[in-house]
Amino acid sequence: AKLKGRAQICGYEPAMQTQLSWRLEMEQALRRALSEDQLSIALQPQLDEQERIIGAEALMRWKHPRHGSVSPEVFIAIAEESDLIVELETWMLDRCCKLLAHLPVAVLPRLSVNISVRHFSQPGFVEGLTWVTGTHGIDPARLMVELTESIMIDGLQDAVERMRALKRLGVKLALDDFGTGFSSLAYLKSLPLDELKIDRSFVSNLDTDGNDAAIVETVLAMAQHLGIDVVAEGVENRAQQEYLLARGCRLFQGYLFYQPMSVEAFEELLTGSEVE
Ligand code: C2E
Ligand code: CA
Ligand code: CA
Ligand code: CA
Repeated sequence: AKLKGRAQICGYEPAMQTQLSWRLEMEQALRRALSEDQLSIALQPQLDEQERIIGAEALMRWKHPRHGSVSPEVFIAIAEESDLIVELETWMLDRCCKLLAHLPVAVLPRLSVNISVRHFSQPGFVEGLTWVTGTHGIDPARLMVELTESIMIDGLQDAVERMRALKRLGVKLALDDFGTGFSSLAYLKSLPLDELKIDRSFVSNLDTDGNDAAIVETVLAMAQHLGIDVVAEGVENRAQQEYLLARGCRLFQGYLFYQPMSVEAFEELLTGSEVE
């Protein structure tokens, strides 16, 4: 009781303190992960309507020496609380550009990377991208930067200006998890987007939820008007693929085709043999 009283005076419950120290511990472990080579990249192929691989999404993986694989939903959220996310994604961008340099455009046209709003909003972000693409000698147009609707947290105008700077460099821009965030169709036309990714939650309920089907249909029709490509995420069965195809969706990603895989497995898939 005495302890509880003290905790309340300090403004938090013991459970919260435990959570805080857990987060701090995880953050330290994550910093070590970067220097001790515990991070890796998984690639999930993206396909066109003829099921040709036109690209892939790069997804970060962390294997903790004792806890095993930690979900990116968990460790990305921790990294996003500090500039650690910038370090992690800088590492990721370097690896992705290296891979693009290694694989000809005809074999792998493009690669998508997830960039957190915190990283995207850093003053040096565009310079960093210019540098990393230049160092590896790759065409920035082969990089698709995936942003979420939270980039508009500081206001639409700020986001648009930052996005324009990226477009000048030549990189492509995608809006990820579409429909789950601020979700106003109205602002879409003011964003310089190349691609929109319909969130998995809408795709997975296509056959059972009439509202989700209506949303997907509306998004596809509107994207077509605006000249933005749409990627359907989380496609898990043929019925979903067919529904989407019939309504003009041309790009697909999901377990129906491929799960995220190691870089080695991905290179083998693309080239039909091992690449040194
Ligand atoms: P996301 O960007 O929406 O990535 C797609 C997630 O859906 C991936 O989960 C992928 O494995 C999963 N997925 C793909 N197809 C299917 C499917 O058919 N069914 C189901 N059930 N799932 C599917 P993952 O790899 O666990 O990543 C989770 C999230 O972590 C990502 O969601 C993204 O928000 C975040 N993340 C991963 N790497 C990075 C990164 O480098 N930077 C940032 N900012 N976030 C990242
Ligand atoms: Ca993504
Ligand atoms: Ca997504
Ligand atoms: Ca997501």
